[in-house]
Amino acid sequence: MKILRKTLFIFFCFFIMLGLAGCIKKKANQDLLKTAQERGKIIIGVKYDTKPFGFIDKDQQLKGYDIDLGREIAKRVIGDENAVEFQQVTSSNRIFSLTSGTVDLVAATMTITPKRQRIIDFSRPYYIAGQAIMVPKNSSIKKLKDLSGKCIIVVLGSTSEINIKQLVPDVKILGFRTYTDAFFALKSGRGDALTTDDTIIYGFLSEDPNFIILKERLTREPYGIGFKKGVNTQSFQETVDFALEQIMQDGTLKRIQRKWMVDFFNQPKKSH
Ligand code: GLU
Repeated sequence: MKILRKTLFIFFCFFIMLGLAGCIKKKANQDLLKTAQERGKIIIGVKYDTKPFGFIDKDQQLKGYDIDLGREIAKRVIGDENAVEFQQVTSSNRIFSLTSGTVDLVAATMTITPKRQRIIDFSRPYYIAGQAIMVPKNSSIKKLKDLSGKCIIVVLGSTSEINIKQLVPDVKILGFRTYTDAFFALKSGRGDALTTDDTIIYGFLSEDPNFIILKERLTREPYGIGFKKGVNTQSFQETVDFALEQIMQDGTLKRIQRKWMVDFFNQPKKSH
């Protein structure tokens, strides 16, 4: 009798565990669009220190182009512009935040590149920036070539980091994880220049008149919304991409660009 009870108990536990494992697997494989709709919000990875795309303003509010875009997407996908949770990402962890499933999508000044496309998927481009160089006002650096032998500050994981190494092989690189740290290092004189997208540089210049942006644009940086690859993200990707198409066609994107004053240099830039 005792043995029978024990055997029955073991069977009972086994089926419970099987059921639980099934549930967990089902959750992991569940269609992302359905998951987002069921939870009633989209989780979006954004930057907190790249004005005017994603930044904390003086009232401690998260603001910017990518934030407004995220809300517009939530409005069209979930039906409410507040049905969104923003999570901070950096240039070096944003791809992992997608592949690990921490966020549903990333809208964080992220350039669409073939190398990144091997790991994640992208929407159509929603903005075109260009890599530029920022220096102190009195700097002797006037163009890209003047960087030879100098020290340039970059943000790790950005396209700017890779591009500048290729364009000026003998430049010394000083890398930081965040834009806040990178700009602070430039202000403290730890490097001769800083390179990133013109959009982000204009954000820094709006706060500090002691620096200038050089005329040259080194690359063309089309920004895309990043998604995790996979069959269970397909309908989510299509829905977001369709929403983005509407946002572009009905003038919403233009309005966001004007609001953040980035429409005047949103032109395809000549590559180097
Ligand atoms: N757009 C570039 C990139 O995706 C530079 C800006 C950034 O670090 O996000 O890498």
